[in-house]
Amino acid sequence: MSSTSPTVPEFPAWPQYGDEERTGLIRALEQGQWWRMGGSEVDSFEREFAEYHGAEYALAVTNGTHALELTLQVLGVGPGSEVIVPAFTFISSSQAAQRLGAVAVPVDVDPATYCIDPAAVAAAITPRTKAIMPVHMAGHFADMEALAKLSADSGVPLLQDAAHAHGGEWEGRRVGELGSVSAFSFQNGKLMTAGEGGLALFSDAEQYETAFLRHSCGRPRTDRRYYHRTSGSNFRLNEFSASVLRGQLSRLGGQIDTREERWPVLSRLLAEIPGVVPQGRDPRVTRNPHYMAMFRVPGSTEERRNRVVDALVERGVPAFAGFRAIYRCDGFWESNAPDESVEDIARRCPNTEAISADCVWLHHRTLLGTEQQMHDIARLVGDVLAAE
Ligand SMILES: *Cc1c(COP(=O)(O)O)cnc(C)c1O
Repeated sequence: MSSTSPTVPEFPAWPQYGDEERTGLIRALEQGQWWRMGGSEVDSFEREFAEYHGAEYALAVTNGTHALELTLQVLGVGPGSEVIVPAFTFISSSQAAQRLGAVAVPVDVDPATYCIDPAAVAAAITPRTKAIMPVHMAGHFADMEALAKLSADSGVPLLQDAAHAHGGEWEGRRVGELGSVSAFSFQNGKLMTAGEGGLALFSDAEQYETAFLRHSCGRPRTDRRYYHRTSGSNFRLNEFSASVLRGQLSRLGGQIDTREERWPVLSRLLAEIPGVVPQGRDPRVTRNPHYMAMFRVPGSTEERRNRVVDALVERGVPAFAGFRAIYRCDGFWESNAPDESVEDIARRCPNTEAISADCVWLHHRTLLGTEQQMHDIARLVGDVLAAE
């Protein structure tokens, strides 16, 4: 590895904030009521986020994992159910199902977009399947056309894990306009953040009402007599977080515009490097918010990929290894795993096997950098690989 390879000037920081968040926090503070039942920040944020995403109803919750758990429960998932999830994803996708007592069934992903493969989903549907969970990997939508058809034919609802897809569009339609429930995360690294937080979008009033009850210990909004109508838990978001998220939402569109300008530059430069293949783009993805800048070094071993990541970090590029296949994590097998061995699942998930070993991702703040920095990144990736 060449020790003369220069580092890049610093990329923009993340999270970003300014007067919107600052005044929001003071506004929440001075309400004198800091939970959603007493204040108006959570209500306002839900309205604004629903409108921005073309949905009827939004319910803010404590985090993205809880958003998935709650929406799965609203879809009727519980003990005896199966939920189909991509094998290449952050572990919350499967953990949410498993926490409800349902079996998470991992299926393979597309080798170019890293999103769930509709043919693999079709092959995994059984009479016990209660939900199909596409993950919009790094902001790139799963094939919502094929999945919607599969859902209509099988009667199994879709739940979009949109933890990477704030502000995204598929064929000109926003997440809330795609006819299925969706779940978002506002964890520190996500495209909008309050450190932690999550949200679910619904188009159906009854589903939204059920979710509202369950996210607040089964208690109706106006209850004063401790009459808990359903089982539930406390997944309520607080007023401070919502006030920050209102500011974050106001920045989202502009940030997406910048990343949508930078990614074509970076991906073209990366594609010119021998042995590098950037994440592909289905032309039906009409707006990609770019949660991660991802590329593969196909055929690379996991060890080599990890060396590449370390070398990039040393040179000032915020690089990370791609997700480990969920079925290769001990946590996946603790409860409610399918009745298959790791090797069985690996055999039917060859793309996940390859991608989880050879994929690298860069923090989305890199795509908020200058055009020159896209050239810097590509040069460093080229240097690092040439020295391997
Ligand atoms: C971040 C993430 C989640 C979970 O969100 P948290 O807010 O961290 O609980 C779920 N799914 C995917 C794909 C994620 O990246």
